[in-house]
Amino acid sequence: MNRNKREKEYYSIDVGDSTFTVLKRYQNLRPIGSGAQGIVCSAYDHVLERNVAIKKLSRPFQNQTHAKRAYRELVLMKCVNHKNIIGLLHVFTPQKTLEEFQDVYLVMELMDANLCQVIQMELDHERLSYLLYQMLCGIKHLHAAGIIHRDLKPSNIVVKSDCTLKILDFGLARTAATGLLMTPYVVTRYYRAPEVILGMGYQANVDIWAVGCIMAEMVRHKILFPGRDYIDQWNKVIEQLGTPSQEFLLKLNQSVRTYVENRPRYAGYSFEKLFPDVLFPADSDHNKLKASQARDLLSQMLVIDASKRISVDEALQHPYISVWFDPSEVEAPPPAINDKQLDEREHTVDEWKELIYKEVMDWEERTKNGLIRGPPASLGAAVSNDSHESSTNDVSSMSTDTDSSQETSAGPLRCCR
Ligand code: AMP
Repeated sequence: MNRNKREKEYYSIDVGDSTFTVLKRYQNLRPIGSGAQGIVCSAYDHVLERNVAIKKLSRPFQNQTHAKRAYRELVLMKCVNHKNIIGLLHVFTPQKTLEEFQDVYLVMELMDANLCQVIQMELDHERLSYLLYQMLCGIKHLHAAGIIHRDLKPSNIVVKSDCTLKILDFGLARTAATGLLMTPYVVTRYYRAPEVILGMGYQANVDIWAVGCIMAEMVRHKILFPGRDYIDQWNKVIEQLGTPSQEFLLKLNQSVRTYVENRPRYAGYSFEKLFPDVLFPADSDHNKLKASQARDLLSQMLVIDASKRISVDEALQHPYISVWFDPSEVEAPPPAINDKQLDEREHTVDEWKELIYKEVMDWEERTKNGLIRGPPASLGAAVSNDSHESSTNDVSSMSTDTDSSQETSAGPLRCCR
């Protein structure tokens, strides 16, 4: 595409500390969240005639960690198509050549709030179990594609006021280093399973632990295992659930086992003590039954030894969850992931830059050729820069639930099935 034409398609707008340079089809940008990779805005897409979320990845190739995550996310988001995983609507870069290439913008479906906001709410059993069911469907779909997440957390799960839920990211690459004896860096680890904390091998039900922690937090309105670091977090786990058995300790490598064995021994508490009736709605026999089912599910998910923890399939069959079971959601055909070395890739900054740039260009090509259900690359005269509405650009107001024009209230979650 010729340079002038391309330049005319974009405009820049300041959003907090960042400048978003986006296609003119995207108007009325407002900050709604921020994560490890940068700022996320809501916007109105004049081509699709709907609200969208735009995430800016600034220089995603700048180091191994950023680059691997951005590339993995781009490749996986393009392949995965499930109602409980966030869908990609468009990808673009305003830069014109590989040499100039800096930033990637991911355009996604816009949701109303992340789960951190929902955790504050008093949910009834219907909503709680429906949200959990959808988490499990999304996780099962990722597992079917060979993606084990290992890093699910409330900030990476988003919901709409109709109680629909989507997982935002794809977690840790298989090769990502983690564990008790690793140098800490600032990320949320409260939801990571014992096998991740203790640097053990893991299987698919590693993700069930996170679902258990999230469910517990929705019931208690408090983080279940809030550790300052992995060591503190492990203490919180054993104080509540009890020191694990000798059989489990034998599965640890020597240095970690020595550490774990030298901790004080805890008996732990029963699930009736950890999650008493008062935490659940209990004004009817139906609710009493549901509370005991919910507690039973928690007790099967929050099991330190993964070999004794419930699996995703078993959780989907649990009476608290199975009321929602729909084979088209649970057993949707898995996506094919073409890049088999996705997690093993190690590259220089320049190689990452080229790989990521190629992925963005590939998206543009496929969109142009109609291979992806998507809008044309150019808007022409339909939207001009003059018609922009002003944006608040105030990062301090950043919250998905503050923008009334975009129906972004976490509001009372409706549950419509
Ligand atoms: P991320 O950078 O993906 O970790 O996202 C950071 C935050 O932005 C999330 O916790 C959400 O609050 C918000 N967010 C990201 N993507 C979306 C989306 N598609 N819809 C609504 N909010 C989003």
